[in-house]
Amino acid sequence: MIKGHCHCKNVNYSIESESSFQFLCHCHDCRILNGGGHLSGAIFSKDSFEFSGPTRIYEYKGGSGESIKAHFCENCGNHLFAFPGFKDDIVVVKANTFVSEKDFKPMKSIFAEEKFPWDIEIK
Ligand SMILES: [Zn+2]
Ligand SMILES: [Zn+2]
Repeated sequence: MIKGHCHCKNVNYSIESESSFQFLCHCHDCRILNGGGHLSGAIFSKDSFEFSGPTRIYEYKGGSGESIKAHFCENCGNHLFAFPGFKDDIVVVKANTFVSEKDFKPMKSIFAEEKFPWDIEIK
């Protein structure tokens, strides 16, 4: 079981499945939305994911042209997870909000061609 929360801990989540893919995304949208060089993302099945606490949803068009619904804590503004429109049975969770850093083992960098020159890349 993976647990996580935002900075102020008003929003908490738990995940009961293994992640199917863990990655760093260096695309322009992820760089702006997440600060730093990349999104630290982990994909899970939506069925195994539960959250509590008030979130605000920011919807934007991703690289595929489909909408992505990103959830932020209403209080502290921390970006926690997102539901992509192109695949409605998954959730992308921001691994930097995991309680245990051991739960995140990124396998690969994606959109590495948009990477900042100073950021790391996992090949
Ligand atoms: Zn918060
Ligand atoms: Zn991205």
